Amino acid sequence: MPAAGRSIFIAGAGIGGLTLALALAKFGAHVVVLERSTGLSAFGAGLQISPNARRVLDRLGLSDALSARSFEPAGIDVYPFARANPLVTMDLGGVMPERFGAAYSVMHRADLAEALYEACRRFANIDVLFGVDDWQVQTGDSGVAVTIQEAGAQSRTLRGAALIGADGVHSRTRTELLTGPAATYAGRIAWRGLLPMEALAGQIAPDRVSVLFGPGLHLVCYPLPHRRQVNLVLFNRHKDEAAADRPTLAFKPSRSTRLQAIFAAAAGQWTPWPLYTVATDRWHRGPVAVLGDAAHAMEPFQAQGAAMAIEDAAVLAPLLVANANPAEAFARYQASRQARVRRVAALSRSNGRIFHLPWPLSAARDVGIRLQGRRGHLRRLQWLYGFDTDAR
Ligand SMILES: Cc1cc2nc3c(=O)[nH]c(=O)nc-3n(C[C@H](O)[C@H](O)[C@H](O)COP(=O)(O)OP(=O)(O)OC[C@H]3O[C@@H](n4cnc5c(N)ncnc54)[C@H](O)[C@@H]3O)c2cc1C
Repeated sequence: MPAAGRSIFIAGAGIGGLTLALALAKFGAHVVVLERSTGLSAFGAGLQISPNARRVLDRLGLSDALSARSFEPAGIDVYPFARANPLVTMDLGGVMPERFGAAYSVMHRADLAEALYEACRRFANIDVLFGVDDWQVQTGDSGVAVTIQEAGAQSRTLRGAALIGADGVHSRTRTELLTGPAATYAGRIAWRGLLPMEALAGQIAPDRVSVLFGPGLHLVCYPLPHRRQVNLVLFNRHKDEAAADRPTLAFKPSRSTRLQAIFAAAAGQWTPWPLYTVATDRWHRGPVAVLGDAAHAMEPFQAQGAAMAIEDAAVLAPLLVANANPAEAFARYQASRQARVRRVAALSRSNGRIFHLPWPLSAARDVGIRLQGRRGHLRRLQWLYGFDTDAR
């Protein structure tokens, strides 16, 4: 019997966990999702969803739900420090579906989670359990026995074929069940903010993503018209995570009037978010595996963490459904995903270094960006955005 003939457990109802639940349920599998929060978590802020991920979500039937909650920016304006006009606008908009067969969209993480959850609710074979205070797993030749402790209820033990930890960067599945490493602090903080659209009128284009470079920092802004908000995320270096407790940014933007205006509009609105990464070769053992940030959290400088979780789910679901032995499916999943995920993580890390180069190296970086022009990224990132999880 294929593994999916029995229940499959997923720890974590985040982007990766819900995508996997949906992908498995479409093949008829019975899925139980264990989420420790009492409801869909509204944490996080904006996400850029590139065509490689959007293609997967569209195939899962989410195209209309996502279009109603997201926005397709026309391009990315890149502003070097202290420059009034963009150095270049990198084309997105219509060229992305033309070139890669799916849209490049931006949306709030909570809106994506909600669209996924709504889709899951239409499947009688998906049970999402919120408020799971604790779960324990026993593994054996015949699969897993999962003891679930929900708030205010008697604990119960359910049996199934496998458990996949989609439980995020600080995954218990990785550290306890796979005895993998803890996440590593990446030396940077993301400061996130959401402002009303009017607050940045005249500072950034209302139909594009804006990336602004400064000394030791960069800022990414994009509109979320569905919420009438603008998403801001500013990245800078901090020696330790504790620095995130500081209520204000140490950096004072002096020579950029645009950065100054954005900082003034966002004063007091920033939420610190220390960045962590995960590097582990071991994504599975027996009937247990990890996916998404739990397996490979990366720096967000190519905006691909959620995209990789979504791709993982699309690759893993058919393997699990087709294989009688989940361990076999997990081995094939790991073999097919690790090289790509490492390449994306390396690109993200390298972007982080390049984005924060000091002068005069930043001047060389800016020349390189200008030479790339409006369409250079389409060729350079063909391997990333053109990837099709179904065409392996
Ligand atoms: C500043 C910033 C900007 C980003 N921008 C982008 C972007 O533009 N595009 C992009 O693709 N990615 C982006 N990312 C990355 C993206 O947010 C993550 O990679 C993605 O959310 C990972 O999804 P996941 O499902 O693996 O984990 P998560 O979305 O973190 O979900 C994990 C879930 O597991 C639950 N959980 C945790 N522990 C347990 C437990 N023990 N038991 C049960 N449940 C548990 C959590 O409550 C949560 O619901 C960004 C990240 C940051 C920090």
